[in-house]
Order: sequence, then C-alpha cells, then structure tokens
Amino acid sequence: MTSPLAARVLELEESPTLAVTARAKALRAAGEPVIGFGAGEPDFPTPPHIVEAAARAVTDPANHRYTATAGLPVLKEAIAAATKAHSGFVVDPAGVTVSNGGKHALYNIFQAMIGPGDEVLIPAPYWVSYPEQIRLAGGTPVAVPTTKDTGFRASVADLEAARTARTKMLVFVSPSNPTGAVYPPDEVAAVGRWAAEHGIWVITDEIYDHLVYGAATFASVPVLAPEVAERTIVVNGVAKTYAMTGWRVGWSIAPNEVAAAINKLQSQVTSNVCNVAQVAAVAALTGPSEPIEAMRVAFDRRRRLAVDGLNAVEGVVCVEPEGAFYAFPSFEAVLGRDIGGTRVDTTLDLVGVLLDQAKVALVPGEAFGAPGYARLSYALGDDELVEGIRRIADLLAK
Ligand code: PLP
Repeated sequence: MTSPLAARVLELEESPTLAVTARAKALRAAGEPVIGFGAGEPDFPTPPHIVEAAARAVTDPANHRYTATAGLPVLKEAIAAATKAHSGFVVDPAGVTVSNGGKHALYNIFQAMIGPGDEVLIPAPYWVSYPEQIRLAGGTPVAVPTTKDTGFRASVADLEAARTARTKMLVFVSPSNPTGAVYPPDEVAAVGRWAAEHGIWVITDEIYDHLVYGAATFASVPVLAPEVAERTIVVNGVAKTYAMTGWRVGWSIAPNEVAAAINKLQSQVTSNVCNVAQVAAVAALTGPSEPIEAMRVAFDRRRRLAVDGLNAVEGVVCVEPEGAFYAFPSFEAVLGRDIGGTRVDTTLDLVGVLLDQAKVALVPGEAFGAPGYARLSYALGDDELVEGIRRIADLLAK
C-alpha cells in the first residue's frame, strides 16, 4: 500500500533531541538509573512570581476568550521594553508576533519568507529544527561548517564562501545551541555588515541572550550593524531564561511588512497563544531579575564542572562554552575502537553504547551536522552532572 502521508512529512526528520530525551525518560520509567544530558531545558521550576501571575490570570474571564492573533498588547509592549533594555534594540510593538515558542516563531518566518530556490545559510553545528523548518518551507538549508578550532564561530569569510545568488537569509544564533559559542561584538557587527552589503536577511535567534558567562557579553546584530536592521528579524522567548519551556511563549520582531505576513499566517493556523501563558510571560519580563540571575549563576558553576570533567576524560576535548547551557565536546579521538565490547565508529554508535552500558544520555553530533561531537546539556543537578561524566570516563577507559 502506498503511504497516505504527504511527501513533506515523509521527508521530515524527527527532532533527535526530543527523541533522545524520550528514550532516556522511557528507560528511567522502566527503573534504569539514567542520567539525561539530552534535554535542552532548565531543570528549575518556573519562578513563583510568574506562576502566581498565571494562577490569577486563570480566574479572569477575559483570558477565557480568543484574543488578538499577534499577542496581548501588554505583552507586546513588555517584549519591546525588555528587548530595548537588554540588547539596546529599539522595537515597535507592531512588529512583534507572540507565538507558541521560539520554534513556532521560526516556523512562521520561514513559511512567510522562504520558498523553492531560496537558500538559507545556517552555521554548523546548528540547532536541529532550522534545516527541517527551512525544507518544510520549500527552501534549501546551506550548512556553513565550523569546528572547535575556531570556537564554532562562522567568520565573514566562511559565510562569503557559502553565499550564492540565491542566498536569501542567514540564521544567526549567539549564544549557540548546540555549541554554547558566543560571538564577540566585533564579529557580530562584521556579520551584520556583510549581510547588509549583500542584501541578505538575518534571523537572529536570541533565545539564550541572558545566559552568558565569564567575560562573554551578548550582542544583537541589528544594534551593532544598524544598516541591516531593516532586513533583520529577532526571535526570542521566555523558555530558557525564565525556566518556562513548557509554557510555550516565544516571539518574532520583524519589519512591518514581514510582521503583517506572519500575523496573517498565524491567524489561519494557530490564532493567539494561550492567554494565561501570555500573562505569565508579562510577569517574567517585568518581574524581578534575582531569580533569573540565580539560575544563571548555577548554570555557570555547572558549566565549569562539565568542561573540567570532560577535558579530564582521556581522548575527549571540550572547548569552553561561553553561553547557553550546553557543552559540545569532540569524541573524535575515541572513535574507531571497541568500547565495552562494542565497535564504535561514529558518535551515533557512541551515544548508543553510552546509553545502554553507562546509562547516560547524550545527543550525537550527527543531529547537529557535526559528526565526531556530542552535546551535553548541563542543565541538571551538580551531583548528577559529576556522576554522569564519571560514568562516561569509566566506560571509555574500558
Ligand atoms: N532556538 C534555539 C537555538 C533553541 O535551542 C530553542 C529550543 O531548544 C528554540 C529556538 C526554541 O525554543 P522554544 O520553542 O521552547 O521557545
């Protein structure tokens, strides 16, 4: 029997990070002591002032009705104010569309702007959903490879080498998932100027903008390269900064013509985001910063534990991530041999062996266009983190 499914979905890859998380959860439910480095989400609960605002919102009948597709006006104002305060980007609330997470905001953008023949540059290692969403829109994702030797940052020369007459857009993410790389301000400015010079649109995914460590600072493309602001779309959300992955509130900030197209699309597909979650997002953006800073400090401590622990493992090399909550070590030196009685040639093989034998869940670099590496989220308790890395070291020593 031929498949009843459309080609677009048959060709779609399942999100490998969600798949690893689901497999680890299933093993845990079956009683296995699995340590999960897979999930791309904070382990903290949402701060109480945000939860309380949502609890109040539930009882207000105004929130029981449909509201404006693009978002509650009070939230759009709060997004504009928070963006200006944090990155310095001056935002017209009319350009804001509140979506079901940053993931949905990206989907909207690609659907609104990308079609057959359009090429979209994505520095690799890349977040798993970019290429799939670009393909869903009929476009062509073009990976721009980077390695640990350049801190996983794409230079203007790298981007220029990938540019063709069909290049319409660049997806820029700093801090990066999966590498934790943070572009310094001069490199952000250079990328923005290059895009402006060639008439290329920039999607700047700023979902990890508050999670930077040490000497690293967050810098926004349209602020440092104002010449590209008219061709820039900012993507952000409350998921990572405020430990709100489950609430599903993200947004795009686009020039008016693009914002109108995104709103039209969203009005036919999903309408407004849950009002209770939108009110919670207002509380997050306008509330105290101390709970947010406390989480950042905890991530920073775990980051150093993770990097030091991984670099102490024979054959593993981990560049220091400066943002987000991921470490992206190279396992290239441990491939091509038997580990725990199993032949391991690729990082895909390796994560299978690590899960089966050491009960540790990692996401293989193959998922991010970077074989030889694996991603570990360090958004888990310090003790679990240390124990998980000990298990990896023990298995690799066998
Ligand atoms: N962008 C990047 C780089 C991410 O890592 C994620 C989540 O993992 C998102 C966007 C989307 O986040 P959400 O849809 O939860 O707001």
